[in-house]
Amino acid sequence: MTAMTAGHAGRPLLNRRLAEFGTTIFAEMSALATRTGAINLGQGFPDTDGPEAVREAAVRALRDGRGNQYPPGPGVPELRHAVAEHQQRFHGLHYDPETEVLVTAGATEAVAAALLGLVEPGDEVVALEPYYDSYAASIAMAGGTRVPVTLRPHAPTGTYRLDLDELRDAVTDRTRLLLLNTPHNPTGTVLSRDELAAIAELCVERDLLAVTDEVYEHLVFDGEHLPLAGFPGMRERTVTISSSGKSFSFTGWKVGWVTATPALVTAVRTAKQYLTYVSAGPFQYAVAEALALPDSYYTELREGLRARRDLLADGLREAGFGVFTPAGTYFITTDIRPLGTSDGVSFCLSLPERAGVVAVPTQVFYDHAEAGAPYVRFAFCKKEEVLTEAVSRLRTLAGG
Ligand SMILES: *Cc1c(COP(=O)(O)O)cnc(C)c1O
Repeated sequence: MTAMTAGHAGRPLLNRRLAEFGTTIFAEMSALATRTGAINLGQGFPDTDGPEAVREAAVRALRDGRGNQYPPGPGVPELRHAVAEHQQRFHGLHYDPETEVLVTAGATEAVAAALLGLVEPGDEVVALEPYYDSYAASIAMAGGTRVPVTLRPHAPTGTYRLDLDELRDAVTDRTRLLLLNTPHNPTGTVLSRDELAAIAELCVERDLLAVTDEVYEHLVFDGEHLPLAGFPGMRERTVTISSSGKSFSFTGWKVGWVTATPALVTAVRTAKQYLTYVSAGPFQYAVAEALALPDSYYTELREGLRARRDLLADGLREAGFGVFTPAGTYFITTDIRPLGTSDGVSFCLSLPERAGVVAVPTQVFYDHAEAGAPYVRFAFCKKEEVLTEAVSRLRTLAGG
């Protein structure tokens, strides 16, 4: 803070593009969790590491000196081939590992590089609100204007739905691209085949690019995950993004990837090479092995999480929350109004003291804060005993 005195007097240090991103509630929540010894269901990372064989593959790569020096800019060939094989195996999509796959520092860098490479200052970027927290900042850094389309709670189904008319109305002559996240964090919405078909038609009709964040592609409990790139006219206009963090429970490795046409990959890589150039050398080899794991691995991952989703959802219902059962992801969004309040921020700030649990107010993921005010997000990518304890603590809320 002392640095505030340096530079042009009276001018804020943080530039205008990032001024609105100065502070987040997350630091405060984490400090609160530590101080109160609360169970942290705020952050979306697993409390158990992924497969031992994959961890050992990373150790082997490190010991054998594979990836300890700068790997190739597009990613090590083993991983690029494994990504291409994965897209074919699970989604029937063919990508050339030489020209159509790019390895990134997680999905986060892939999203940032895609926006920096494809968006001109003043371009509009349409994204589904509530959004993953890096989107707004990445759009801002690219000089773009974000145009939120709000996913709305739909009481009869207990899910969040996309209004396709609202999406169509959000597109203007200045719209450059659609930034889409399915399965969607934080709402757990998985876009259906019909919805994706309509989105594809819109992109083709209005000549839009699409950037899709599919990091939860293997964590779908109801329905199925379909990549937008598989719809008519979308293969050539979609930057598909995924990552090893959520699929293999190694969120700290930050190995992600892009699949797209050579021209789109080149645009993303042009930005990416000046952000990190490369990253995570030895881990790239390990993720190449992880992607080739048998179907049983992916099934067990999904079924294990489904059981924990159900455990937490039932517990939250018993504690008096309104529960939106997520079709995918790590997260359950709840309505706190049945508990007698509609202010998610103050609810989450007091929850560690009241019940020994940390959650996140979804309002922080919105431009239209009022649309997210009465909702609170809980993560269920935690050990069963942790969730059981959290649920028993939350039950004290039901008593008043
Ligand atoms: C966790 C998450 C990411 C981050 O992926 P990394 O590979 O860790 O960068 C990106 N998008 C969404 C929607 C996420 O939930």
